[in-house]
Amino acid sequence: MDGGKNPDTCVLCGAPLKVIHPAEVMYCAICGKKYTDVVVCKDGHYICEHCRKNPGKEMIRYICMRTESKDPIEIATEIMSTPVIAFRQQEHHSIVAASLLTAYKNSGGGVGDFKALLNEAMKRGAHIPYLIQMETGTSGGALSAGIFHSVVTGLNTHSKESWTRGGKLVAECLMGISEIEGPCCCKRCTFTAINVTAKKCEEYFNVSMEIPENIVCTFSKNNGECIKERCPYFPA
Ligand SMILES: [Zn+2]
Ligand SMILES: [Zn+2]
Repeated sequence: MDGGKNPDTCVLCGAPLKVIHPAEVMYCAICGKKYTDVVVCKDGHYICEHCRKNPGKEMIRYICMRTESKDPIEIATEIMSTPVIAFRQQEHHSIVAASLLTAYKNSGGGVGDFKALLNEAMKRGAHIPYLIQMETGTSGGALSAGIFHSVVTGLNTHSKESWTRGGKLVAECLMGISEIEGPCCCKRCTFTAINVTAKKCEEYFNVSMEIPENIVCTFSKNNGECIKERCPYFPA
């Protein structure tokens, strides 16, 4: 799982890298682009140089650009299940916005240039500091939901209705997240922010995403600090 931090191992599976000769034409396992290169992992994964440097961000883009899912929980779970997204990784601050934006688009929500909006959401998500909830009391997941709302509405300083709606949405996400005592969990915050926001989208935009009736977390066993039965997403 530390593959992304060690330049000598595969960012996907953590296996050691090897240099092949002669160079081969290969498709990057994250972005799908074609390159002629000489570095693959022992298990055969080829990751291009750009994706090796930004595996989490590129994986979010890769999944969001391809999925047809209308369920933002499913999209976020798919992203978080990849080995390039570790617990408490800063990328969770982009995952909420990106998953919501993708499911919103796939559910018929108007987004215009989706790729441009996704890139803008990812850029703003990257601005949210890693330990923001500990340092400020404000969840990065709630702020990421606010990013989704801001990019979808084109929020600006002269906005009227969207201005108050965006603030209320972030506040409602933060209320939902704050109802459960710590320790903190990036997955719990992500699920809550997405769930609250998807429901608000019906009211705000008349867009209905597909949200599971019971959200079930599949990451508990990997989190030594999981609060288990105190978490609404802990598997029964
Ligand atoms: Zn590999
Ligand atoms: Zn790539």
